[in-house]
Amino acid sequence: MRVNITLACTECGERNYISTKNKRNNPDRIELKKYCPREKRTTTHRETK
Ligand SMILES: [Zn+2]
Repeated sequence: MRVNITLACTECGERNYISTKNKRNNPDRIELKKYCPREKRTTTHRETK
């Protein structure tokens, strides 16, 4: 049930992280607070294809 996802910064669009999620627990797009190296600060990262 685990699928690979890419986490992209919602501020600058940079794809900073690759992760996995459980599709049963998170059927929708997930959002996480992550550090963006491009902006050197923590921003919201959203799952993207
Ligand atoms: Zn960013």
